[in-house]
Amino acid sequence: MRAVEAVFPLLSQPKKIFITTHYKPDGDAMGSALGLYHYLLQKGHQPTVVSPSAVPDFLQWLPGMEQVLNFETDNKICLERLKDTDLIFCLDFNRLDRIKQMEQPLRKAPQPKVLIDHHLMPEEEAFQFGISQPGKSSTCEMVYDFILVDKGEKYLNQAVMQCLYTGTMTDTGSFRFPATTASVHKMVADFKERGLAHSAIHEEIYDVWSENRMRLLGFALYKKMEIFPEAGVGIICLTKDEIEQFQAGTGDTEGLVNYPLSIAGIKCAVLIIERKDEIKLSFRSKGNKDVSAIARDYFEGGGHFNAAGGRSSRDMATTYENVKNALQITSNIQS
Ligand code: 5GP
Ligand code: MN
Repeated sequence: MRAVEAVFPLLSQPKKIFITTHYKPDGDAMGSALGLYHYLLQKGHQPTVVSPSAVPDFLQWLPGMEQVLNFETDNKICLERLKDTDLIFCLDFNRLDRIKQMEQPLRKAPQPKVLIDHHLMPEEEAFQFGISQPGKSSTCEMVYDFILVDKGEKYLNQAVMQCLYTGTMTDTGSFRFPATTASVHKMVADFKERGLAHSAIHEEIYDVWSENRMRLLGFALYKKMEIFPEAGVGIICLTKDEIEQFQAGTGDTEGLVNYPLSIAGIKCAVLIIERKDEIKLSFRSKGNKDVSAIARDYFEGGGHFNAAGGRSSRDMATTYENVKNALQITSNIQS
């Protein structure tokens, strides 16, 4: 994989550019993809953003969303765009198996692939150009860095800033997690000087819950959260039926995994959710507990040191026991 700067000469002429991100995109995934989209558009390129699956409702307001294609529902046109593109940008994921049904078409695509990502352990051989910085707060911050290196400050318009602010805000837990470095705040300061209205973005993302989502949170915390004080672990399991009972859609369980971490003494939280054809696991930790290793070693996943995800094809009860074993929870004493 060559340094990302090596891609600038390829961008000196207008190009058709395919931008994609991970399955079940989050704020950083869509923010970085659309931030780069608005930047490249202003520079005279023809970018297309393709999401491997539906974009959750809380991100629908992002500028440019109406142009985003969904690989699952707009399959034919996505494959046509892929065939007809000059360059492929892969943002906020670093292994092609993170894009599910898009993996094979992208693997086979002959065009150069550019990686911009902050997860651990990139599949380097899959990308011709790129930058992988696990210490970065977000892929959005990396797209900002990319724009600065490209001397593109004058293209930091409202659309670019709104998108990049969104993903940096969501991936840092609203500028709270340890990866919120001075450079994150400098970027935000730059955006503020350029006239970004940040409060509206917090409201668009955080104050748009449905009543059902709020009640699901209450149910999950009251009835489904188990706390293992000696191990410093909190686990929430939700079955398919429970999720259906609250008519919870994509994104309605977003952030739920973080709640046990607000209990004193809890350093690790796990959310186990039964989906249509598999069980999805989310891991979060504080301090020196590496949950990406647990996701990788036991649950076919990965991610960051303090935030990771994985999956299981076993049933709920077995998965739950596997989680307890992986976290070495021996005590059955629950609070
Ligand atoms: P979440 O719990 O929000 O799904 O994921 C937490 C973090 O781990 C995110 O940064 C996400 O990109 C990453 N992640 C989630 N699932 C997987 C997975 O299956 N494989 C890898 N490598 N990373 C994942
Ligand atoms: Mn990210």
